[in-house]
Amino acid sequence: MNAATMKITRIIRIEDTRQYEEGPDDRWYPIPGSGVENQCARCGRMHEVHALVELEDNTSAVVGTGCARGDDLIKCAQFASAANAAKRLRGLRAKLAKAEANAAIYSEALRVVDALTPPAAVWTKAPNKCSAGDHHVIAVGEGKAYSYQPGELSPSDRREREDCARNGWRAARMTEALPAGFKGAACGYSFKYEAERLKQDIAKVEKRLAALMAPAVAV
Ligand SMILES: [Zn+2]
Repeated sequence: MNAATMKITRIIRIEDTRQYEEGPDDRWYPIPGSGVENQCARCGRMHEVHALVELEDNTSAVVGTGCARGDDLIKCAQFASAANAAKRLRGLRAKLAKAEANAAIYSEALRVVDALTPPAAVWTKAPNKCSAGDHHVIAVGEGKAYSYQPGELSPSDRREREDCARNGWRAARMTEALPAGFKGAACGYSFKYEAERLKQDIAKVEKRLAALMAPAVAV
């Protein structure tokens, strides 16, 4: 008997070796040809997504994930599910690497901006457009806030308005401190949170994959 004809009794390991890149739609796609090619014991072709399997004589072989046959002891559907999980895992890991890199870039920019001293808040008045009277304009550098409250503001309201203007100034400094076109800069999006969420997704897929590595299910 040889590996090309022997039945597959168990999937030992399944792996997608390709690199993934982010598409314009924010989804991640495998880059064809970026993986490690392994020759398939079944069809003789090279596969970038492959499985190490146990054969009926207890030896192991590398096969493509689409190369299980109907007469294999492991169900073809189980093989397909495992291949999908392996691909998803690879994509999620690429996404996690990006989120972690973004988190590092973002916190470095935050450190730089936090070390800056914002300019003092300047209060002026400007005439209302649609009604008589004036409104307050609070400026911290290019950061602006407004108040239409008549008369003088209470100290806590003043502070709140100045904080608002200061946030505008900080947002402008963050944009300068981050690389051009950095996504999520404007809203202070949490890359750390995204990384945590991705780690949870990865753990779930790993668990599913481990369950699919279970001993042969007779067809
Ligand atoms: Zn094959």
